[in-house]
Amino acid sequence: MMIFVTGGAGYIGSHTCVELLNAGMDVTVFDNFSNSQAEALERVKSITGKQLRSVEGDIRDGVALKKALADSGATSVIHFAGLKAVGESEVDPLRYYDNNVVGTMRLLESMRELNIKQLVFSSSATVYGVPQFLPYTEKHPLSATNTYGQTKLAVENMLRDVYRSDASWRLAILRYFNPVGAHPTGLIGEDPQGVPNNLMPYVAQVAVGRREFLNVWGNDYPTPDGTGVRDYIHVVDLAAGHVKAVQFLERNAGCNAINLGAGVGHSVLDLVHAFESASGKPVPVKVGPRRSGDLDAYWADPSLARDLLGWSAERGMEAMCLDTWKWQQSNPNGYKGGI
Ligand code: NAD
Ligand code: UDP
Repeated sequence: MMIFVTGGAGYIGSHTCVELLNAGMDVTVFDNFSNSQAEALERVKSITGKQLRSVEGDIRDGVALKKALADSGATSVIHFAGLKAVGESEVDPLRYYDNNVVGTMRLLESMRELNIKQLVFSSSATVYGVPQFLPYTEKHPLSATNTYGQTKLAVENMLRDVYRSDASWRLAILRYFNPVGAHPTGLIGEDPQGVPNNLMPYVAQVAVGRREFLNVWGNDYPTPDGTGVRDYIHVVDLAAGHVKAVQFLERNAGCNAINLGAGVGHSVLDLVHAFESASGKPVPVKVGPRRSGDLDAYWADPSLARDLLGWSAERGMEAMCLDTWKWQQSNPNGYKGGI
């Protein structure tokens, strides 16, 4: 079975390509490499010992996209391509709507024209907005507090409308919690450009000596140690969830939103201490003010993923830190530095 993977060279996409190939599926990646390197795909091949097809192109270019999709012979699509920096989305909202919403519209149009109606979409826990109860279940009301979140919500709504108009679509909306970690080989991982915004890559760069200390954004939250609490999920577990989602769609029509999280909350300081143990390196911290727009705490109820997909997270915080550390040490400057 051929799977067409938009954004397949990116952080989550590359790990998912490994799991798809290991599960015996064939893969065509469609990526414009705006936030990734082709080298990631070479490493996917060396991890799996298998080939994949790759086409360079932009999902907003409907003609190129439809041709690549038709040429691939795919029967199923996983759609990772998009922009994901919350701060940037607030500065340049139109770029985010164009990439994430218009891009997805082009993809759905091409799929409909080719009668390929099976799609897994990368959504985010950000669509739940301020928690009205925890853990978040899929029934939690939806809202968005920033432009990035609005684009995810807009696409979710588009997918629900498409399904209402034609019940032969098979759609899985996966709501990721906080993906971290790297492949245990240390060959692929997260390669943020510039100063990382996210906690785990920042902590890894402090441990490796690239940055002096971690700014902890606030220690006066109503959480056990005062720092923010999130549900961190190992990227290899997340990738495995996509294989399960594709297999689920092979058996079921419908439009289902499904949380992919571990179901456990960890504070910023929990993660820092776990990283110090895993790496054997100190991670100095300085407490700063709260980061604007941050929520104090949230985590997933992952039981629907277990019930529908037969998936649950297997790797804990220790593996998340050990695998990040291995990737960071073997690739201190990301893919550009070579091995
Ligand atoms: P990433 O930036 O590493 O990967 C995205 C990939 O899409 C990159 O390879 C990029 O070059 C490509 N891309 C972007 N715009 C494109 C376009 N117009 N046409 C073709 N390719 C394009 O990001 P990621 O962390 O792997 O995230 C993948 C998806 O998951 C995104 O949709 C993101 O919003 C979503 N998501 C990520 C997180 C997270 O914390 N990483 C959390 C929730 C949801
Ligand atoms: N955080 C932090 N310092 C950093 C980056 C993040 O203290 O340099 C905190 C942030 O306030 C939040 C948690 O770490 O409580 C996770 O942040 P991240 O940006 O990784 O994910 P998000 O909050 O966007 O889900």
